[in-house]
Amino acid sequence: MDAGLKLGAVADDLTGATDLALILAEGGMSVRVAVGVPGDAAELGDADAVVVALKSRTIAPAEAVAQSVAAARVLGAAGARQILFKYCSTFDSTDEGNIGPVAEALLNALDSDFTIACPAFPANGRTIYQGHLFVGDRLLSESGMQDHPLTPMRDPDLVRVLGRQTARPVTLIPHPTVARGAGAIGAALAAGGPGIRIVDALSDDDLRAIGRAVAPLPLVTGGSGIALGLPANFGITARPGGPRWPQGAIAPGRAAVLAGSCSGATRAQVARARAAGAPVLRVDPAEIAAGRMRPADALDFALAEAGGMAPIIYSSADPDEVARARSALGAGAAGEMVEAFFADLAVAMAERGFTRLLVAGGETSGAVIAALGVGVLDVGPKVAPGVPWMRARGAREGLALLLKSGNFGAPDIFLAAWEHLA
Ligand code: ADP
Repeated sequence: MDAGLKLGAVADDLTGATDLALILAEGGMSVRVAVGVPGDAAELGDADAVVVALKSRTIAPAEAVAQSVAAARVLGAAGARQILFKYCSTFDSTDEGNIGPVAEALLNALDSDFTIACPAFPANGRTIYQGHLFVGDRLLSESGMQDHPLTPMRDPDLVRVLGRQTARPVTLIPHPTVARGAGAIGAALAAGGPGIRIVDALSDDDLRAIGRAVAPLPLVTGGSGIALGLPANFGITARPGGPRWPQGAIAPGRAAVLAGSCSGATRAQVARARAAGAPVLRVDPAEIAAGRMRPADALDFALAEAGGMAPIIYSSADPDEVARARSALGAGAAGEMVEAFFADLAVAMAERGFTRLLVAGGETSGAVIAALGVGVLDVGPKVAPGVPWMRARGAREGLALLLKSGNFGAPDIFLAAWEHLA
């Protein structure tokens, strides 16, 4: 197999980027995640695939377009032979974008006429039939996503949804064609003229067939599931046991959990670890605001505890407490204060011998990564679906980070994640 970059991906958020990176790594690729648009191709080093993690899902469409095209250009300059634009498997977007405008701009930038849009991820219950997106046994529009605060999804028909976001024709490759395999899908793709094709997919086998069929396309768009079929197009096959790091890749040192997610799953994970005897410190936004709880206090707590079970510093609170903090401190300010607290704490920890940090919460992870100044991460062992350990390169070399979306992971993840680093 030849060396050098093969696949370049642009993901519209950080935890989505790590989810995609894990699927590519399980497919046998060496994968690197770059946080934000890389300054230049040389920063990316040698990997089969690079995933650029943007924060572009809900920013203004013009800004999402500018960042996505800039990322694709750096990936192209680094040698990428195909670009994958990755978004959420629930197609999180509005009539203004950002999926349609970004896909259209990437087609233009790559001088290409057509692509697919396939957010299906059957392993997580996301399937597409007759262009309609299902979450489990419900249509997208009845799945809870109709009430999402930023991207309410009230129409499950992706041909219509994407049609409102782009001037390019949006058409459907229906499941009977997909079921006939890669040859039939490829023929339908080539015959459809310029535009974007929503592709039905009900199973991983469908995604692998679609993956084979899109091998010649300069641009592919979809959820992380679409990546299942892509490594094989570059002659890469999965290694048994999944992604691994060489011996000594992680510097020896202390471990801690920083939990800023208030999701039900994260609260259950805190409760489980505490019941098992892990040392815990609860951080309350009001205490931070009053200056009674500083990052240095949490660092002292963690330094005193580290050695046995990994200490857990958490702000995770139930919806009533979150609502109280938001009304007392301001809706945005409460969250920002907590994010800044964890960001400062992570930096202090990295400087005081902590080499393994598990961070719970998408926004919390973004704040921590930005403060640490980590620009490039390698993908390592899988802890849970969508959740790999990552290893910082360059700045903070050798620091192991697990960045998990609040809702991801089993209840015992704060106890069990460390074994995967052994
Ligand atoms: P998730 O992945 O579960 O959505 P995030 O980290 O993305 O988690 O979002 C959680 C948000 O809630 C962050 O902005 C965080 O700072 C904020 N937050 C955390 N704890 C509290 C709290 N006790 N009160 C109010 N806001 C909080």
